[in-house]
Amino acid sequence: MKLITSLLAAAAISVASFAVPAFAQDKGTVGISMPTKTSTRWISDGETMEKLFTDAGYTADLQFADDDIPNQLAQIENMVTKGAKVLVIGAIDGTTLSDILAKAHDAGVKVIAYDRLIRDSGNVDYYATFDNFQVGVLQASSLVDGLKAKFPDVKPWNVELFGGSPDDNNAFFFYDGALSVLQPLIDSGDIVIKSGQQGMDQVGTLRWDGAVAQARMENLLSSNYTDAQVHGVLSPYDGLSIGILSALKGVGYGSGDQKMPVVTGQDAELPSVKSILADEQGSTVFKDTRELAKVAVSMTDAILGGKEPEVNDTKTYDNGVKVIPSYLLKPVAVDKSNAKEILVGAGYYTEDQIDN
Ligand code: BGC
Repeated sequence: MKLITSLLAAAAISVASFAVPAFAQDKGTVGISMPTKTSTRWISDGETMEKLFTDAGYTADLQFADDDIPNQLAQIENMVTKGAKVLVIGAIDGTTLSDILAKAHDAGVKVIAYDRLIRDSGNVDYYATFDNFQVGVLQASSLVDGLKAKFPDVKPWNVELFGGSPDDNNAFFFYDGALSVLQPLIDSGDIVIKSGQQGMDQVGTLRWDGAVAQARMENLLSSNYTDAQVHGVLSPYDGLSIGILSALKGVGYGSGDQKMPVVTGQDAELPSVKSILADEQGSTVFKDTRELAKVAVSMTDAILGGKEPEVNDTKTYDNGVKVIPSYLLKPVAVDKSNAKEILVGAGYYTEDQIDN
């Protein structure tokens, strides 16, 4: 009996000593607020961060807001109440968070804007994102290259423009980047926009909704292209490109001698990568969300360790109150010629995922 008691005591001690380092390692809670699950990229951003933060000794509180602003506000409020030390936020609407961020600031919580800039608040500490202007440059450059390759003898090219969600600061950067390439060709008459619809106020797509893009494309086709052909469509996101392509297919593009227009995209989502390899979508832009997640985690580590997080841009992202110190990653253009090399090469997808 004495032996059993002392064995039990020894076991208790060893369990306790095993538990101590795990407890000592707990660096506190980080709130991760992602906008939606409708696009796989945000699921992967959230889950990669959850894992990296957990591995680094934090407790990760990951929430998805279903593209619903009150939902995101409530989730963030709850994170603050529960004592999060840092918030990593991919905003649905970058202008709606000022009140909750003021409360977070009063509670000593630091805030990292993730991928999308949070506007109109002085309580944003850092911004982790991609070079969003460059995303637009890549989209428009691949559009123009695609037009030259697919419609070499056509002059002018008929092109229609789509923008992202007007409540997402990124959408303006993508659009401006794209127009920096396209506007000279519009001015020279090489590109014609038959609908005349230009500018984010006319071409924006609220909440990045593919169904909205599809409906707009159907309207554009029936109002402007019953006796003309569209050669290119600037689309800022794969989820919109899918809707646009289905509107085009609906009126016969991509079959017979009616060539599919050159359609761009963003995010290298699996259905779009497959569509590119099947010669439907022309291109996409790959942004390695795993790298962005790492930036957010190392920023958090630095902040909580009392150090300055590494940034590489301190002038671009003025949120209306202040310029947010930012770390910008590089986006990569992907088309049929390099899709596998880049995406499989980076370990983002397996060859099997792309082929099947
Ligand atoms: C992101 C894009 C994404 C879009 C729609 C933007 O803020 O930067 O990667 O395609 O939101 O989710």
